[in-house]
Amino acid sequence: MYSVIRTAVLEGIHSKSISIEVDISTGMPVFDMVGNLSSEVKEAKERVRTALHNCGIMLPANRITINMCPANIKKSGTGFDVPIAVALLVSMGIVDEAKCADKVFVGELSLNGKILGTNGVLPIVSDEFSRGVKKFVVPKANENEARLVPGPQIFTFDNISELIDFLNGEEEKQSYVADKDAKCKSKTSSVDFRDVNGQVFVKRACEVAAAGMHNMLLVGPPGAGKTMVAERLPTILPSLSDEEKLELSKIYSVCGLLDNNSALLCDRPFRNPHHTVTKAGIIGGGMNLKPGEISLAHNGVLFLDELTEFNKETIEVLRQPLEEHRINLVRGNTSVVYPANFLLLAAMNPCNCGYYPDMQRCRCTATGVRRYLDKLSQPLIDRIDLCVEASALTYSEIVMKDNNESSASIRKRVVQCHRIQRERYMSEKFRFNSRLPVSLMDKYCYLGDKENRYMESIYEKLQMTGRTYHKIIRVARTIADLDASENIKLRHLSEAVCYRSLDNKYFGGDML
Ligand SMILES: [Zn+2]
Repeated sequence: MYSVIRTAVLEGIHSKSISIEVDISTGMPVFDMVGNLSSEVKEAKERVRTALHNCGIMLPANRITINMCPANIKKSGTGFDVPIAVALLVSMGIVDEAKCADKVFVGELSLNGKILGTNGVLPIVSDEFSRGVKKFVVPKANENEARLVPGPQIFTFDNISELIDFLNGEEEKQSYVADKDAKCKSKTSSVDFRDVNGQVFVKRACEVAAAGMHNMLLVGPPGAGKTMVAERLPTILPSLSDEEKLELSKIYSVCGLLDNNSALLCDRPFRNPHHTVTKAGIIGGGMNLKPGEISLAHNGVLFLDELTEFNKETIEVLRQPLEEHRINLVRGNTSVVYPANFLLLAAMNPCNCGYYPDMQRCRCTATGVRRYLDKLSQPLIDRIDLCVEASALTYSEIVMKDNNESSASIRKRVVQCHRIQRERYMSEKFRFNSRLPVSLMDKYCYLGDKENRYMESIYEKLQMTGRTYHKIIRVARTIADLDASENIKLRHLSEAVCYRSLDNKYFGGDML
């Protein structure tokens, strides 16, 4: 007998519909599975056979053929066990086909018939629902995740026997409608810029970076509080829109990191990969082309602490995502695209010992310092707009109490600045000053005579390159927006120039 069951396969953070056809006919007892399957999908055969056996159901000694179509899509993942089992049960006449026709099935089986959780349930439910499916059978371990999509009916079961009973009985196990107002669990709320003493210049730079989504480099001795500041950067970015929350939650769902949450992720992510991270760890990849750190940092902050310790080649792969704000991963004839729109924040010591240019304490030779800085990846540095020095705190700054501005108060200015940019760039393909192409600079960044003369003098004094000049203009545009000024004024330019002053101090002018 022939049967067909509907399921779905992940493709990036989206899903594609898959039909599982089963045919049981007389002939030599064989069990064949076809349809462009990865190894873990082929193994489903053994899991399903044993799971059913342990629930008292023997597969018939006939010719069993399973086809998963369309054949041009590679099937990977472990979520096909349950739909394959259900398709077999329908073919064997154990469950009613009509009961299964309107549902999408997802789930992995253990050998004793238990239904195990699987990755990517959120994108599958969300996409299949938009294609018109109203009922979903998912593992209990993914129940809350599936309910994050408002609308569909979700049915969950612990094991295959329960599922069979359900499919043969009345549909009494009605699902409840997702609680739309489920409280977001805020993780970053425990950190706040209020806790950061001193570092006024660095905090202001963070505000500018967040306001124009500029990438930033923090340079300073150990213990200056670089990590403390970095962790707080997401707290001054505007809160995520509902669409962004869903997109971010889908990425985490695909990685199996959603933890069966009962609410969408609502904090901007802060990712802090260790410097031993591999290329695949940072941009994504591996057997099943999973998202990497840059996608997990989507719409948030990617923090690379000890930038010079990272493998140079690992860092250079960031070039494409920093330009395109997404990453295209290819393996064999499969390719997927993951979103990767993040603010890059990097931190480093100025030299090996950490104290250059404080010659009283720095133990490095001039060549040592040079060699240390040479470890930096030029393509990455080219994409950093702000370069700021975090200096060691003075005693009075350490003991200072309660005069610091809170994240919420800084965020208000950032939100306003994002709104100004959104309106200004309404007809453009980009939304932030940091993305302003050189070709449109004259249109959006008018400089008066006074401002032009200032830039001319600075250009020669600092021996700037064209690239540095454009970075300064972009940052000045953001500072002017924070000031609610339509045109860029002298004071905006001179502040923007400050964020380049490290060039001369550490890098001899032409490095950054
Ligand atoms: Zn040193």
